[in-house]
Amino acid sequence: MMRKFLIGGNWKMYKGARETEEFINTLKTSKVDISDIDVFIAPPFTSLPVAIELLSNSNYAVGAQNMFWEEEGAYTGEISPVFLKELGVEWVILGHSERRIYFGETDEGVRKKLKTALRLGLNVVICIGETEKEREEGKAEEIVKREIIEALKGAEVDPERIAFAYEPIWAIGTGKTARPEDAEEMHRIIRGSLGNKGEEVRVIYGGSVKPHNAEELLRQDNIDGALIGGASLDPVSFIEIIEAVRRV
Ligand code: PEP
Repeated sequence: MMRKFLIGGNWKMYKGARETEEFINTLKTSKVDISDIDVFIAPPFTSLPVAIELLSNSNYAVGAQNMFWEEEGAYTGEISPVFLKELGVEWVILGHSERRIYFGETDEGVRKKLKTALRLGLNVVICIGETEKEREEGKAEEIVKREIIEALKGAEVDPERIAFAYEPIWAIGTGKTARPEDAEEMHRIIRGSLGNKGEEVRVIYGGSVKPHNAEELLRQDNIDGALIGGASLDPVSFIEIIEAVRRV
């Protein structure tokens, strides 16, 4: 089963409109061929319009880092997925560990958001992963399986629209990367818990992916791409990671 590689750049709370424009101008000067890879960048909400406008004639897609599960209403400060669709957003990241840790995102919230996103035609990357303590206690497998089951309750696993990002929390923004063989083992487990569609669903890795370690991770059979935080903020390292995909 050939799964198309998926690369996402999660910019977190970095880059307003001006810096987004600078990044994209550099990205567009690169001749890296992404015709057979799905690549998106996920800037902060306020930088989405400029990103979408500047990437409109390219193969790069734009994603959001979060959304609300309702389409509209009295939800001060939230962003509707309808507004994201209207802008031209194609991907949305759900359940990132920073949202779970700092903003109280729950499995139930991820499930509700997933349902709405699918109904509205957004593609989704669902983030799952264990803390360092959970890994030490031998609970990594149990945690990711719970996150998957809870997110998918009542939803069809549509491989065209849903991807999972295995992001061990201890590896995010820390410079510590999971060993490729450990990541591969977790990806195999994740795929195995996705039922009969498992072979078709993309399971990407996130956690301190950098140009120097990307290729070895991406060479693993069950690693179908990467969700990149820090290294996606620099267009040069982001492009280098895409080039690593091309070598795999
Ligand atoms: C992320 O934010 O999803 C991430 C993986 O961050 P980093 O690459 O900086 O570890």
